[in-house]
Amino acid sequence: MATNRTFTMLKPDAVEKGHIGAILEKITAAGFKIVAMKLTQMSKSDAETFYAIHSERPFFGELVQYMTRGPIVAAVLEKDNAVEDFRTLIGATNPADAAEGTIRKLYATSMGENAVHGSDSDANAAIESAFHFAGREIF
Ligand code: UDP
Ligand code: MG
Repeated sequence: MATNRTFTMLKPDAVEKGHIGAILEKITAAGFKIVAMKLTQMSKSDAETFYAIHSERPFFGELVQYMTRGPIVAAVLEKDNAVEDFRTLIGATNPADAAEGTIRKLYATSMGENAVHGSDSDANAAIESAFHFAGREIF
């Protein structure tokens, strides 16, 4: 995995509300190239593994419930400085703190249901991409 890639999920709330197209438009307009993408649904064990780092946090049960309740769009994105630039594009975890024009400001409803995931490091981008995609599905 090159270091100019990041991993994203359009979370169940964004998919339920019909925001897939609008969010993908924001992502590609910001200069990200989609190199892998699919509509999929995480099982309980998938979500527990993906968010294992948060397993001791009080919100973990709710997070797993939320992330498994419907389909998500998983994607790998390519751009210079992808991880940092994508975190800037999505905005703060809590949409109340997210900057104007960010994806979370526009489409998230709460700290928990915040519309979109973005990897926090190159190492985690590689791990998260490999969790969702086989090598032949990433272009
Ligand atoms: N989350 C939550 N309550 C919190 C913190 C996080 O429900 O107090 C959820 C939220 O969906 C968030 C995810 O857990 O996106 C992962 O948390 P993290 O701190 O990694 O935030 P992110 O990297 O997604 O901004
Ligand atoms: Mg995170």
